[in-house]
Amino acid sequence: MKMKIYVADPCGFCYGVKRAVDIAHLQAKGYNTSIATLGELVHNPRVVNSLKQQGVQCKTTLDEFSSGDTVIFRSHGVGPEVYEEAKRRGLNVIDATCPHVRKAQKTAAELAQEGRFVIIVGEKRHPEVQSIKAWAGKDSVVIENEDDLESLPERDKYGVVSQTTFEAEKFNLLLRMSQERRPGDYKVSRTICTATAERQAAARQLAGRTDAFFVFGGKNSANTRHLWDIASTVNSRSYLLQDASEITASMLAGATKIGITAGASTPQEIIEEAIVAMETMESLLNEHESMKLHIGMIVEGTVVDVTNDEVVVDFGYQSEGSVAFDQWVQGGTKDTVAPTVQKDDKVTLKVIASENQDGLVVLSKTRAEADKVWQELPKEFEDEKKVVTVKGLRAVKGGLTVSYNDVTGFIPASHLDLRHVDDVKEYEGKELQVSLLEINPEKKRLVFSRRNVLREERAAKNQAYREERARREEARKEALAKAFETFHEGDVVDGTIRSIVDFGMFVEIAPYVQGLVHISEISWDRSVKPADLYKVGDTVKVYIKGLDQEKGRISLSIKQLQEDPWQTAAKTLHVGDIVTGTVVRFLPFGAIVKLNDKNEGMIHISEIAPQRIEKPEDVLEAGQEVKVKVLRIDTENKKIALSITKAKEDAEKAEMKQYLGKKGTLSQGIGDKLAEVETK
Ligand code: SF4
Repeated sequence: MKMKIYVADPCGFCYGVKRAVDIAHLQAKGYNTSIATLGELVHNPRVVNSLKQQGVQCKTTLDEFSSGDTVIFRSHGVGPEVYEEAKRRGLNVIDATCPHVRKAQKTAAELAQEGRFVIIVGEKRHPEVQSIKAWAGKDSVVIENEDDLESLPERDKYGVVSQTTFEAEKFNLLLRMSQERRPGDYKVSRTICTATAERQAAARQLAGRTDAFFVFGGKNSANTRHLWDIASTVNSRSYLLQDASEITASMLAGATKIGITAGASTPQEIIEEAIVAMETMESLLNEHESMKLHIGMIVEGTVVDVTNDEVVVDFGYQSEGSVAFDQWVQGGTKDTVAPTVQKDDKVTLKVIASENQDGLVVLSKTRAEADKVWQELPKEFEDEKKVVTVKGLRAVKGGLTVSYNDVTGFIPASHLDLRHVDDVKEYEGKELQVSLLEINPEKKRLVFSRRNVLREERAAKNQAYREERARREEARKEALAKAFETFHEGDVVDGTIRSIVDFGMFVEIAPYVQGLVHISEISWDRSVKPADLYKVGDTVKVYIKGLDQEKGRISLSIKQLQEDPWQTAAKTLHVGDIVTGTVVRFLPFGAIVKLNDKNEGMIHISEIAPQRIEKPEDVLEAGQEVKVKVLRIDTENKKIALSITKAKEDAEKAEMKQYLGKKGTLSQGIGDKLAEVETK
């Protein structure tokens, strides 16, 4: 297929450089005196040599000029002291300073005159920046990156200008950071020239849609190198050349669409020569295609055989090609490759050596695929946050090599996990989710981060958790408001135990509505702990003991639905009963007697003995069994009053009655009389 050549628009000389070169050519014709530029007029040896041939020399300092000579100031401009020095030395000055640069210089000087501290955003060593700084005077500084902001003094008023070729995005960032760190009255003049940005955009766009891309210009030209950097990010076959003499056939091999751009200091003739050279080379390549085999060339082949050692391929060359099994697929062997390959299969291959011991060209399918992947990788990772799966290969110094689509990449140890990784080896052979950290197809550099993916995942989880929590809280509030309308104190409802805590259990009685069964409301037996009886998830019947709408609290009880063991036991006791109990403890005014497992009663001190006693322990002791009479049972307050003296009196009466009853059987007359007396 015929090769097509596209030239980026705009490219080459910018307005300011063209103006300077035109001025220099014009002046060369009109002056008989010695004429020279102060510094290279443009960073391009071809232009500098051409001017020399016309009599315009290049000098580096004013010391090299003599009175009456003519000096040309280049498009970058110079400081006011240089104008003065040239005047003092009696030189004729031709000022080729670009009007855009002149405007930046003038603005810097005006800002300084207004009493503002001048910030020049740009590259410190660039001659244009140095000239602007000279016009700004001593009260100024050049800021090239974030670190430089440290040297920015604290002032009330600042004036800001930029290098004309500075990146607008970076300028905005540094301006914002400086305003944050050194707040004050800022007057900002955006003296950025669009010529550079337009050339960069055109280069990026053309490089992305061509097979090979060429950037022509002086290798010491910053803007030319920058164009090549930009092109390289979108086209791995991007070349930085000084002129057409550096073009080689391998650069054009296999390419049907060629893109060209040139730096701002590159004359049009270099571009034209490059086009001619490429077209000539293409026709030569076509003529000798069968003989021009070179390492790295991509070829299309057809399988002709599979031997014990290789896959043999016909790719239209005078000799056939050999593809080793492990060059067919990574780690391939005859057993794994041969069954998958058929005669006449079509395959894309890369030439890796011109001949093996059998005279076959050495080819690789894996490397051809890797090259293709490398070409497509920048597009694939246009979305910087894209997450892909890689496989850990080997722990190496500083991190882990990984495989991605047959391309080898790298994860720095610090990007393997959220935590510090002690042993990188544990990631060998594992599949890992990663995002891109850095890609440079030219240097075959592909760096991933797993840590960034984990961070994103964690942030997403936290966000989802916060949203879910807010949703549940909203639902809970709604459900709770409804519950206060639906439920009433005294209701008995079914609920599910959701949690058990030291002070009780939380029971859900409707979706999102939970009430507390306080530990004292779980059982009549106070020694029982909630976990002894229940577990989370159990269904229980609960009694609604209290509803506090203001505080959003619901008090529940299980105990209220069970009979009080004290009351049950107390039912076996009746006022007037004489029962046996055990003294368990003393009070200042009586003694406590245990009557059964659940009931205790109190003997008041006045009911312990017929005579007056100082304290209960004078006549009773703990553990002593006593017969007591039940005087009162207060079921509401769970109190039982007992009496030893009344029990004794009853016993004595009973004894007397029994005694008198026996006597009666012996002597009826006396017995009857005593019975009468007793009755009276
Ligand atoms: S890039 Fe812009 S400012 Fe610089 S010389 Fe060219 S036209 Fe002038």
